Amino acid sequence: MYPPVSSQPNLPALENEVLARWAREHSFQQSIDMRDAGTDGSNEFVFYDGPPFANGLPHYGHLLTGYVKDAIPRYQTMRGRRVERRFGWDCHGLPAEVQAEKELGISGHPEISAFGVDKFNDACRSSVLQFTEEWRDYVTRQARWVDFDNDYKTLDLDYMESVMWAFKTLWDKGLIYEGFRVLAYCWRCETPLSNTETRMDDVYRDRQDPAVTVWFELETGERILAWTTTPWTLPSNLALAVGPDIDYAVLEVDGERWIIAESRLGAYEAQLGEAVQVGSLKGSDLVGRRYSPLFDYFAEMPNAFQVLSADFVSTEDGTGIVHMAPGFGEEDQNACNAAGIDTVCPMDEHGQYTLEISDWVGQHVFDANPLIIRSLKDSGRLVRHDSYMHSYPHCWRCAEPLVYRAISSWFVKVTDVKDRMVELNQQINWVPSHVKDGSFGKWLENARDWSISRNRFWGSPIPVWVSDNPDFPRIDVYGSVAELEADFGVRVADLHRPVIDELVRPNPDDPSGTSMMRRVPEVLDCWFESGSMPFAQVHYPFENAEWFEHHYPGDFIVEYLGQTRGWFYTMHVLATALFDRPAFSNCVSHGIVLGDDGAKMSKSLNNYPDPNQMFEVYGSDAMRWYLLSSPILRGSDFSVTETGMRDTVRQVVLPLWNAYYFLTLYAGAAGTTGSFRTDQEDVLDRYLLGELAELIDAVTESMDAYDLYGACEQVQGFLDTLTNWFIRRSRDRFWEGDQDAIDTLHTALVLFTRVAAPLLPMVAEQVHSGLTGEGSVHHQDWPSSEDLPRDPELAIGMRRVRDACSTLLSLRKSEGLRVRLPLASATLATPDVALVQPHIDILRDEVNVKSVDLTDRVADHGTEELVLLPKALGPRLGGDTQKVIGAHKAGDWSFDDGVVTVGGIDLVEGEFEFRLVSDAEGAAATLPGKGGIVVLDTVVTSELEREGVARDLIRRIQTARREAELDVSDRISLSLEISEVVADAFTAHQTMVESETLAVESSMKIAGGDEVIHVVATERR
Ligand SMILES: [Zn+2]
Repeated sequence: MYPPVSSQPNLPALENEVLARWAREHSFQQSIDMRDAGTDGSNEFVFYDGPPFANGLPHYGHLLTGYVKDAIPRYQTMRGRRVERRFGWDCHGLPAEVQAEKELGISGHPEISAFGVDKFNDACRSSVLQFTEEWRDYVTRQARWVDFDNDYKTLDLDYMESVMWAFKTLWDKGLIYEGFRVLAYCWRCETPLSNTETRMDDVYRDRQDPAVTVWFELETGERILAWTTTPWTLPSNLALAVGPDIDYAVLEVDGERWIIAESRLGAYEAQLGEAVQVGSLKGSDLVGRRYSPLFDYFAEMPNAFQVLSADFVSTEDGTGIVHMAPGFGEEDQNACNAAGIDTVCPMDEHGQYTLEISDWVGQHVFDANPLIIRSLKDSGRLVRHDSYMHSYPHCWRCAEPLVYRAISSWFVKVTDVKDRMVELNQQINWVPSHVKDGSFGKWLENARDWSISRNRFWGSPIPVWVSDNPDFPRIDVYGSVAELEADFGVRVADLHRPVIDELVRPNPDDPSGTSMMRRVPEVLDCWFESGSMPFAQVHYPFENAEWFEHHYPGDFIVEYLGQTRGWFYTMHVLATALFDRPAFSNCVSHGIVLGDDGAKMSKSLNNYPDPNQMFEVYGSDAMRWYLLSSPILRGSDFSVTETGMRDTVRQVVLPLWNAYYFLTLYAGAAGTTGSFRTDQEDVLDRYLLGELAELIDAVTESMDAYDLYGACEQVQGFLDTLTNWFIRRSRDRFWEGDQDAIDTLHTALVLFTRVAAPLLPMVAEQVHSGLTGEGSVHHQDWPSSEDLPRDPELAIGMRRVRDACSTLLSLRKSEGLRVRLPLASATLATPDVALVQPHIDILRDEVNVKSVDLTDRVADHGTEELVLLPKALGPRLGGDTQKVIGAHKAGDWSFDDGVVTVGGIDLVEGEFEFRLVSDAEGAAATLPGKGGIVVLDTVVTSELEREGVARDLIRRIQTARREAELDVSDRISLSLEISEVVADAFTAHQTMVESETLAVESSMKIAGGDEVIHVVATERR
């Protein structure tokens, strides 16, 4: 016998039971131990955990990623693979430092140094791991199997030593250099940032800046106009740039000549409206002309103050002439250096002018803007001043607006390995597939050298020691603790600052013995560390070198799409540069989880349901399914709502549970239990088992392709077949205790819960163990479809009948004809008559019609129509799409030899389809997939009406039975006080009413007021 099953399960309580059992029985560890690793790990499925920062609580994005990180390994385990899963923590870098600064109430380098780098780093260390216990609780509650006890942390000595090895190896390969380059720079955090960090979400935000137009005097006497939104860079202007092919107008007013791009004239109507155009020039005509400096701070700079040619000059805004300050713009720097103009950067690390700008020294550059504008106005150089709203980069950690600044920094020469990175990307399977040549491929193609040094405190040290006397230059780069020990005579137990900075030794190249070798002050970009995860987590190459050989690349990683510029990218850079291999073989990149209002999730907006509360109300399986079945796994963004989770319970979790409950109820009533069998002969049994075989194949294919969305769709489709077709159509058989029906449902549920186990791990566990009495469903082998019967003709015929039923029932609904009201007839016109014929009784019964006319003369009831699919057309045809759509509307199309031609253009497969369109008047509709047409006879005779009322009465009596808490098999005595209409129907159909409600006796009278239905059990089984 089955164990007792509640008809109304408390899902969260049930999940906690499962979690407790897993913990008690060490089910996770067992699931690993029971699978052999194979020779050199050949049977292992290698998962790399992308490390989160633990200085905040997990949000839905983490939970979603966690569900994927769990579902795929569960599936692979059932497929027989051994899947180790280690949790990882990202510990270093700005997120930790900014948090520590807040907690300590200090800010900036001087305050941190005064506070003590050692104490500051201690604060970072405790801050960064402050939520690890909460993380563990969340991750455990979401039923994610992962090893927390054997986790890796980027702050561990072993991990940091591997990172150091990576740096040294790149150095030895000539892939590391120090450069003075313009980089995005945070003046609050006092560090440069990489491209990765300036491309993260929320970095670009709207900002209002002053926009000024000023004039420069050319040696030829004209006044040339330049426009900028960073007036603070004007004191270090060293050149102007024009587009060589852009047309520039020469204008004259009051004896002065002005130069501006012709296409920008309209924007300067107010300033130059009076002027008369007296000539025009190509940009190339202006190139090489000298001009007088606007300010004289750098008046002596060689080669400065000339007009340069540059391709990046546009005429979208401004004047078509670009002001260039080589210390504050990457393009400016490249163009100026190419023209022999040096880079000057008169700004210090705090964002303040240095001594060169003598008038405003010490002034923060943003605060200097109004002062500069005033000065320009006073000198008569300001032509226009307005404000400009633009999307401007901000620091991803502290949210201050960034500046661009030339700074000395260490770089990985990514451009040297870029082509190889592009090649190796082709070996990676991306889900969704468009990421490969889309957001990731494009990012790779435009890859630039990676600034990896941060002028900060908490991170892996840049392992470079330099001589402190430039007269005796020397650079030493270290790749291990042992190498450090060899040179410095100390074995360090901690590679963090300030310990590492205390390693100082005399410069061996200095015969005077006075200069010393000191470490450069910078630490590494924390993305360099997370990118090192595949080898650093196992302390490669100092340990596990052989293990690493066989576990690299990893089989599977998952994170959100933005990591194509973050973790996915930095792992790929290091994998290519160090190992000439990809770091991972399969990568799932999902969209962003948004709040219920479609905006970014925000605590202050309170626009998302609290995850813990959702766990308590609906359970984690509902949340898992809800997220995994959403388009977010196909790369779209997705709004998370409480309604969505509630619907999941109603549409997925409860139907599964109810099917299980139904089985135990009826098997119990028949005093039996189901057995696992597949030789049943009943047509519905065979149909269900065949559909189950299809399900297994389809879900296997989806899971192998990392398509969880597709897997959910198939699982839900089968659940619908199981509950809304098989069970509903087999009620009479269950009622009679039919062993075949019971065995079929038992078998289906056993296999179904195995297939659904990765997607609904706890509910599946509970149902599976209730049915089989065996151990965990997650220790089972993945089912094979081979042992199940298949009958393709039965499948097609039955699916057609189901389509016809649901279409006819929709017609009933739209015509306002309730299902209990019998109708005279329905027509099904389908090409598959022979396959449908055997199931015609089911159709008649299901739709409640007296007869079904089955015909293959589809053409008598409808026509085929060409339908265009603009989504597919657009990308191929571009501008011709509208033309094709117009021609189609006008009927200008043909179909010859299988080729569809619209408006003279041949379409390709997938850009169109033929759909059936019904010609019939009234209640008619087409079936999906050109399956045919159904027509419903909607005439209601009084006889039909009477029978409908009798059926309504049966329904009400059944409700009364339930309310009286009668057993389904109890016989009853029925007494009715009903209206004349109902009485009329009852009299006409008394036998039917009595037999369907198990009434062994009945009495009836006409009701004076409200109707009364009274049932009493006469005999209990
Ligand atoms: Zn910052």
